[in-house]
This record gives sequence, C-alpha cells and structure tokens, in this order.
Amino acid sequence: MAQKQKQYDLYTFVAGAALKKGKPFQLECNCGGIVTILPPFQDEYVICPRCESRIRMIVIEGDPGYIIGRTSEGGLALLPVQGSARPHPDKLSQAEREAILSEIKTKLLKET
Ligand SMILES: [Zn+2]
Repeated sequence: MAQKQKQYDLYTFVAGAALKKGKPFQLECNCGGIVTILPPFQDEYVICPRCESRIRMIVIEGDPGYIIGRTSEGGLALLPVQGSARPHPDKLSQAEREAILSEIKTKLLKET
C-alpha cells in the first residue's frame, strides 16, 4: 500500500531555542509574508497567508545561527535559521559570509 506523501512548497529551518521561549514566533515566507505561530508549536507545517505556500518547518536544536546549503551552481551558501539571534545572511557582507562558511567547514572537517 503506497503511502500518500505530504507535499510542501517550501522548507525552512527554525531555531529550537526560539520555540522554547514559548512566545509567538514569526516565520517569514520567501514571498515576504509573515506567519505568526503561537505556542505550543505542534504543527509541522504552516500556510503562508500571502502566497498560500505550505511551509514545512524543520526545527534545529538550539540556535546554530546558520546552516550550509548548496546553490544551484554547486557552491556552498549560508542559509538562515529563522528565530536565530544571528542576522540574516543577506545582511552580512561578502567577507563576513565567507568567514562564517569557512568556520562551519572547519567544524565539519573536525567532526569527520
Ligand atoms: Zn508566502
């Protein structure tokens, strides 16, 4: 029996630390729409009120600040973690982004 798979339009990473505060949390959609999530956080996805995207929330322990993703060109890119205390990668300078990327890469190399 084939299981019906849930389809999501977007995936976003959320800092677990932000959810633990038990305060309303504002999740930003790629379209700029804001979804306010009220505690307790039980849903695994939310729907953007603006573009109606189904946004799957992937909660990360603590507040890692950023995670590494791949760009369409195959390079590494910093992806924001929503609810993080760190600024959005777009607000950083190129040099700052590169410094964080190499810091994360060094950490990853040490772990393997
Ligand atoms: Zn949206």
